Amino acid sequence: MNIKMMGGVEIHQRLATDEKLFCSCSAQPKDGKPVGEIVRKQRAVAGELGEVDLAALHEYSRDRTYRYQIFPKTTCLVELDEEPPHPMNRDALETVIEVCLLLGSRVVDEVQVMRKTVIDGSNTAGFQRTAIVGLGGSIQTSKGEVGIQTICLEEESSGIVGEKDGEVTYRLDRLGIPLIEIATCPDVKDGEHAREVVEKLGNIVRITGKVQRGIGTIRQDLNISISKSGASEGARVEIKGVQELGLIGKIVEREVARQAKLLEEGKGLESEVRRALSDGETEYMRPMPGSARLYPETDVPPIKISREWVEEIRKKLPEKPEDRREKLVEELKIGEELAKKIMLSKNYPLFEKVVNELKIEPKLVAATLEETIVSLRREGAPVDNLNENKLMELFIEYKCGKFVKAAIPEVLRDVSRNPTQSISHSVEKLKLEKMSEAELRRIVEEKRKAGKSGKSLIEEMMREHRLRVDMKELSALV
Ligand SMILES: [Zn+2]
Repeated sequence: MNIKMMGGVEIHQRLATDEKLFCSCSAQPKDGKPVGEIVRKQRAVAGELGEVDLAALHEYSRDRTYRYQIFPKTTCLVELDEEPPHPMNRDALETVIEVCLLLGSRVVDEVQVMRKTVIDGSNTAGFQRTAIVGLGGSIQTSKGEVGIQTICLEEESSGIVGEKDGEVTYRLDRLGIPLIEIATCPDVKDGEHAREVVEKLGNIVRITGKVQRGIGTIRQDLNISISKSGASEGARVEIKGVQELGLIGKIVEREVARQAKLLEEGKGLESEVRRALSDGETEYMRPMPGSARLYPETDVPPIKISREWVEEIRKKLPEKPEDRREKLVEELKIGEELAKKIMLSKNYPLFEKVVNELKIEPKLVAATLEETIVSLRREGAPVDNLNENKLMELFIEYKCGKFVKAAIPEVLRDVSRNPTQSISHSVEKLKLEKMSEAELRRIVEEKRKAGKSGKSLIEEMMREHRLRVDMKELSALV
């Protein structure tokens, strides 16, 4: 049987704004204990057209009770659905416009917030707020162009804590964090391709530098249908909640095989939503939601996007991921591995600033930010104390010749433990000041008198004074 796959991917990435999308609560939840709990029940309600959504009914038939955990600083009356949403967060909208421009999408003139029925209890209101910001656009991939359908700004749902005896517990700290959702056209050809598309879209979103990092901050949905010998016979199946990039290929291939087997056995295919499991398998979740799911959010007035605003955003647009990688490798002579680490890092703006303003060797700056600090963290040093100002101070003192390259890890380790101390104080305390030319000459002279010369002299010097001697200077002198 000649099977052809048609697939689309949807990525959801949390944005790193200070506040949530429709209230002033912090958009960056911290781990901690809930300070309270509320209990609710939910019913399926008719949408605008008076029909009750099939997916909503499916959940309703389960008649469940929901417990919502309340956290300080990340929960207010908006999350509890006791107060109307506040105006939409402008920073979040600006980041989504930025991504639209990077993908060549047409930015809408007016953002109209919609309500999407959700009745698994993950939204206290029974719906999720979502708004289309961009339409169209594309990315280039190894298997041709992949079109973009829509780019939306929406609110994150509550986090599920657990389910027991028909009662589901959710945490409200996550509810309302801004999410960007990018949905592609059904141009994805196979599992490997799906992975590539997800990775490329993720890189575009990350290059803005305005997205959250870490587990759970990005997830993917996959839309898969198949056709036999050109005739479309398949039904669209949506697989939700794929978190691991490495599993995408496997999940897609297994879903294609599952659908092909059903066709082969002469069984009909149903449009349905399936859930991704951690081993690359999927399981049935619910029927595919119908069109009754979306209706206008009347509590949030439409937001005009002026062309002036879009042009302002276009002026400060970051380069595309491919262009940034090329610049790092070709122009700044950073190796491929290091370029990969720094290009989408949250440290990239600092890297750029140090390289441009202080003219320090780019490779040293990138290695310090992406490798030295990482290994210090591994050995348990409190490197979160090394903020941007502290790191800038380090590079300035280095540029002034206060210490040599090899001393950087020692200095950073010490300053991370004593964050109020200045870099130069730490260097003096550790006796790591760069050796003066006069002192260097004197010691080299002494060693010569003792019969050392050439390579063995250099080796002995580096063994004894590695953290204080600049290798290049020493070689020149010897
Ligand atoms: Zn709030």
